[in-house]
Amino acid sequence: MSTLFRNALVVAMDDTNRSRPFRSDVLVVGDRITAVAPDLPVPDGAEIIDCTHRLLMPGLVNAHVHSWEALFKGRYDNLPLELWMLLSYPILGLEPMSERLIYLRTLLVGMESLRNGATCLLDDVIESPTQSLTALEAVFRGYEDIGIRANCSGNIVNRRYIDTIPFVDEMVPAELVTEARAVAPRTTEDYVQFSKEALTRFDGRAGRLRYVIAPSGPQRCTEELFVAANELSREHDTTFHVHVLETKMQAVTGREFYGSTLVEYLDSLGVLTDRATLAHGIWLTDSDIERLGAVGASVAHNPISNLKLGSGIAPWRALLDAGVNIGLGSDGLSSNDSARMFDVVKSAALLHKVTQPDFEAWPTADEVLWAATRGGARSARLADQVGAIAPGRKADLVMLDLNALNFTPANDVARHLVYVENGDSITEVWVNGEVVVRDGRCLHIDEDAVLAEVRELGGEYLHRYAEIEQRNHALMPHFRAIYQRCCREAVGINRFSDDERAWVGVL
Ligand SMILES: [Zn+2]
Repeated sequence: MSTLFRNALVVAMDDTNRSRPFRSDVLVVGDRITAVAPDLPVPDGAEIIDCTHRLLMPGLVNAHVHSWEALFKGRYDNLPLELWMLLSYPILGLEPMSERLIYLRTLLVGMESLRNGATCLLDDVIESPTQSLTALEAVFRGYEDIGIRANCSGNIVNRRYIDTIPFVDEMVPAELVTEARAVAPRTTEDYVQFSKEALTRFDGRAGRLRYVIAPSGPQRCTEELFVAANELSREHDTTFHVHVLETKMQAVTGREFYGSTLVEYLDSLGVLTDRATLAHGIWLTDSDIERLGAVGASVAHNPISNLKLGSGIAPWRALLDAGVNIGLGSDGLSSNDSARMFDVVKSAALLHKVTQPDFEAWPTADEVLWAATRGGARSARLADQVGAIAPGRKADLVMLDLNALNFTPANDVARHLVYVENGDSITEVWVNGEVVVRDGRCLHIDEDAVLAEVRELGGEYLHRYAEIEQRNHALMPHFRAIYQRCCREAVGINRFSDDERAWVGVL
């Protein structure tokens, strides 16, 4: 089966053209792009799509998302990460979500992603309070059914949340700590077995789903687990995806737990390689950044989530200058509060302009589009598979209407994609050579039925969830005090936009 996209305005994101648009035909045979050139001959039986008024670009790659949060969009505000997590990933009293709701939740993420032009995502699938293979199966089934390309992790963590926070024993009442420590974390051996089984069951499914290795964070896993996870990621050539230095508290945690930065700690375990992707990478020192560049690691940059949780501003220019690959992510649907990648693209382009007056160091539209396509692809270990319109690549394509409001009148096309486009101009989305979105609707699922079922089952779940949140509020004042203490500590760098002296005295 083949499709010829005739005379499209192509933003290929290939090595030669990057975001510079050109007119061309694009031929897709099966799941791959086989030719990109003007006036291609029509193969026998090919479907021809006239693209005279269409822009064709590679699907966006969401380098970091958590589908767990899909029911919590629009629920919280003005809480920093560690306090927000008490509500969005509660540690007291939570029951597992039903497999049906996990499946539906996954469809919400897939729907919002595809409709907004993201054809590939990395879902760090955290399941609270704990994860089973059948729960993960529901996630894979969701992405399989909706037609997106997905890289999904198991939730690799073997320290209790309470034990990942500094100063807990001196600052949280003993009875609360005891309650939070009641459930034993799983062992390294458990997680290795879980991941091996997940690789067997899920990896390669539908020709577009992968199981990937994602130890949650250096303070959230034991050394032994990190080393074992890295070995699995090497054996199966998957990304090694880990949250690192998202917040100032985590910078303090590195010093308190390991007497070093968290990047130095990871390096000492031998797990910093070109497979490593650091989610966030905000509170990095200059020498951390140098280390990441030297090994060819990636950072999944999540500007909207970082703004929402007040985590600080990642050092965009310093990372690129050091040779670190940057992908763009939405992060979870509670800290964002959506999976719309065009929002993320625009925010990434805007955020860093307030960090310094040297306007020549600000992100360009081309760099941001690169991060949103090629950067994310490389971070997911799909560098030669997706992220560009070029022969041999998977046919993951987004088609936009050049006659739409967002392109009228049309000026610099790359700048339109970064600053003007919000997904409204998308007419079709293709994944693996198959059309999955047309006229704003996902074609492989009954969207209305899914939303109706989420309203019913999700509504019931959230009703019960409110009681769990209430219970976890008991920890809030103590975590608040720890947060404030960490903010007062000097860590040698400042990633807030305000001068440290302006707020240290206030807290
Ligand atoms: Zn995350």
